[in-house]
Amino acid sequence: MSIPHGRSPTLVIASGNAGKVREFRELLQQLPLELQPQPDGMEVEETGLTFADNARLKALAVAAASGAWALADDSGLCVMALGGAPGVHSARYAATDPERIARLLSELGDQEDRRAEFRAALCLADPSGQVLLEVEGCCAGVITTAPRGDSGFGYDPIFEVEGSALTFAEMSPDRKRAVGHRGLAFALLQPELHKLLNDQ
Ligand code: IMP
Repeated sequence: MSIPHGRSPTLVIASGNAGKVREFRELLQQLPLELQPQPDGMEVEETGLTFADNARLKALAVAAASGAWALADDSGLCVMALGGAPGVHSARYAATDPERIARLLSELGDQEDRRAEFRAALCLADPSGQVLLEVEGCCAGVITTAPRGDSGFGYDPIFEVEGSALTFAEMSPDRKRAVGHRGLAFALLQPELHKLLNDQ
């Protein structure tokens, strides 16, 4: 896509989740981009088998609908002893966060191998249907036997980050951003996005 000289390109954040849009804004604030929310009421079905598939589906659909670059993410928790579950089904594993946590702890039972990883895929696409950038961040850890900590969301209280002895829910937001899957994905995306903007 060609960008009019001297104007910041528009980048639509392909998410209907206000918290996620806020987080994207903070992470992208250094870049010369005009950030916009996705068109109202837009819902893209996440039918992919991988986080990268789903991020791509969302970025391409929102870029086509809005006529601008679109950035989408997809993330979730993969537990080794459960064959990678809940994986791309992390959000749909149960109805609420406490129920999702209870189901995961019950499925894992007293299994000794509690290794897990959070993954976050990001995809930037343009309205012509071209994928411009794709990255994936990963944070390794273990599933605790009981929830610990009060901050964060989702599975944070039962995910202890490798080498830290703290769950995501026991970390400050800054610390979680520094070691977490989404922060790492953005750290990978930023230099690539810089390069792309400079080449326009
Ligand atoms: P999505 O990326 O919005 O499709 O949803 C991913 C789901 O994975 C969320 O609803 C959470 O259940 C879970 N998840 C993704 N990232 C995190 C995280 O940083 N902490 C806790 N849970 C997460």
